[in-house]
Amino acid sequence: MTATRGRRWLFADQLGPHFLDSDDQPVLLIESRRVFERRRFHRRKAHLVLSAMRHRAAELGDRAHYRKVATYGEALTKNLSVCAPTTFAARRLIEKHDGIEVLPSRGYAIGEEQFAQWAQRRQGRKLVMEDFYRDVRKHHQLLLEGDGEPVGGRWNYDQDNREPPPRTTTLAEATGVREPWWPEEDEIDEEVRADLDRWAAQGVEFAGEDGPRRFAVTRDEALRALESFVTTRLEDFGPYEDAILTGDRWMAHSLLSVPLNLGLLHPVEVARRAEKAYRDGDAGLASTEGFIRQVVGWRDYVWHVYWHFGDDYRRRNRLKARRRIPAWFADLDPDGTVEAKCLSSALASVREDGWAHHIPRLMVLGNWALQRGYDPVAMTDWFHTNFVDGYDWVMVPNVVGMALHADGGAMMTKPYAAGGAYINRMSDHCGGCRYDPKKRLGEDACPFTAGYWAFLDRNRGEFANNHRMSRSYAGMGRLKDLEAVLEQEAHRGSRAP
Ligand SMILES: Cc1cc2nc3c(=O)[nH]c(=O)nc-3n(C[C@H](O)[C@H](O)[C@H](O)COP(=O)(O)OP(=O)(O)OC[C@H]3O[C@@H](n4cnc5c(N)ncnc54)[C@H](O)[C@@H]3O)c2cc1C
Ligand code: SF4
Repeated sequence: MTATRGRRWLFADQLGPHFLDSDDQPVLLIESRRVFERRRFHRRKAHLVLSAMRHRAAELGDRAHYRKVATYGEALTKNLSVCAPTTFAARRLIEKHDGIEVLPSRGYAIGEEQFAQWAQRRQGRKLVMEDFYRDVRKHHQLLLEGDGEPVGGRWNYDQDNREPPPRTTTLAEATGVREPWWPEEDEIDEEVRADLDRWAAQGVEFAGEDGPRRFAVTRDEALRALESFVTTRLEDFGPYEDAILTGDRWMAHSLLSVPLNLGLLHPVEVARRAEKAYRDGDAGLASTEGFIRQVVGWRDYVWHVYWHFGDDYRRRNRLKARRRIPAWFADLDPDGTVEAKCLSSALASVREDGWAHHIPRLMVLGNWALQRGYDPVAMTDWFHTNFVDGYDWVMVPNVVGMALHADGGAMMTKPYAAGGAYINRMSDHCGGCRYDPKKRLGEDACPFTAGYWAFLDRNRGEFANNHRMSRSYAGMGRLKDLEAVLEQEAHRGSRAP
C-alpha cells in the first residue's frame, strides 16, 4: 500500500479502513444530491449509500470534512489523495482536476496490473473465470493444502451445489438455517429518511418502496453480518445457492454484496473468514468453496473484466436487441399486473427490497430481457439504479456480458437463455402459476418456454454454429408448431405476461 500525506477523498464505495493509510489521516466525503436528481434510484439504495457515508463521517469525527454540495467540483481542494475510483466516469472526473494524487485501486483480491499480466499470459485465449479464480486462490493461499493442492483434491464443487429447492415454504423449515443478521436503524438512518422524504416532496423521483434497512452500512455492522453468516448460514449456502423459493427471498445467501461494494469489507478477509469457518467445522467444504468462488472469483473477475474490455464495452449490442423496456417492467410491476409467477415474484423482490439473489437476477429478470430483446444499455441502467448493490463496474459485465450476451460471447461461451423447464426445476414458482412450463402454445403456454424458441429463432445466425447450442437448435428443428409459437410470441410483444 502506498502511503501519502494529504487529505484522503473517499468515494461512497471506499468506506472501509483499507482505504486510509493511517489512523489519523484527514478525510473528505462528498455528498452530491445531483446524483439522485439525474437518475431515478431505488429509494432503498439512496438510503443505504447516504446512511453509510454519514455513519462513516460520524465515526471519523473531526477528521472528516463532510461536504453536501451540488457537484463534486465544488468540494475539491488542493492536497487531496484518492484511491483510484471504481468507474470510468469518476476516473475521468479526477483527471480534470489538478493536484489530486491518484493511488492504485484498493479493495479487490488482486491489483489491476496483476490482472493485466494474467490476461497477457492468456495470449488471446478466452479469459476464463475458472482459471482466474484458481490463480487468485493460489496467490492468497486460500483453501489450499500445504503442498499447494486444493483442499479436498478439487478446485470446484459446483456439482454438489446445484440442489433444487426443498419442498417446503422456507429453507429454514427444511434445514433449520438461521435468519440473516438484520441491522437496527439509528438516528442517522432516520435523518436520511427524512431528507429523502423532503427531496421527494421537492420532485426528486425514487423507484421502489421504502422499508427497514436490511444491509450493513458500517464496518462494525459488516463484521457482525459476516460473522453471523459464516457461523450460522454458510453451511446451507452451497447446496441451495441456485434455488428459488417464493416464500423465502434470502434463503442462505450472505447479503454481503452491499457492505462489500461500499468498501466496508475486503473480499480476501471475507474469504479467509469463510475458510476458517470450514476449518473450525462450522461449514462444509462444498459450501465454503462455492462461497469463496463467488467472493474472490466471480466478483474480482467482473471487476477486472470491466477495465479490461474498456469503456465502450457497455455499448456492445451484438444481438441487436433494441426493444424499449416496457413500463410494467421498468416500474417494477407496481400494480401487480404480471401473472407469470417467477417474474412477478422477482419484480416484487426488487420493488420491496432492491435486491434479489443471483438466480432471479440471471435466470428470471435477465433471461426475460434477453429473450424479449430489451436494449442492453437501458437494462444496465435499470439494474444499476434499482439494485441496492448496483455500481457501474459490477453491473456492466453482469448485464452486458453475463445476462444479455450483448458482447457476443467475450465473457460467456453461450447465452443464459432458458425455458420454463429450468425455472420449474430450480424454483417452486410454476406450481402456482397460471402458465404451464411444459406448454409452448396456447392460452397457458409458458412465456419463458415459448420465448426461448423465439429467441433461438431470432438469433439463429449468431448461435447456429456454436457447438454448445447445437442440441437446442436440433430440438428446435423437431418442433412441428414452431411457426405458430413464433407468431404467438410476436403477438405478445411488450405486454406483461
Ligand atoms: C444481471 C445481474 C446483475 C448483477 N448485479 C450485481 C451488482 O450490481 N452488484 C453485485 O454486487 N452483484 C451483482 N450481481 C451478482 C450477484 O447476483 C449478487 O452479488 C448477489 O446476488 C448479492 O447477494 P449476496 O450478497 O447475498 O450474494 P451471495 O449469493 O451470498 O454471494 C456472495 C458474494 O459473491 C459476490 N458475487 C457473486 N457473484 C457475483 C457476480 N457475478 N458479480 C459480482 N459479485 C458477485 C458478491 O459480492 C456476493 O455478495 C449480479 C448478477 C446478475 C446476474
Ligand atoms: S410456468 Fe413459466 S411463467 Fe409460470 S412460473 Fe413457471 S416459468 Fe414462470
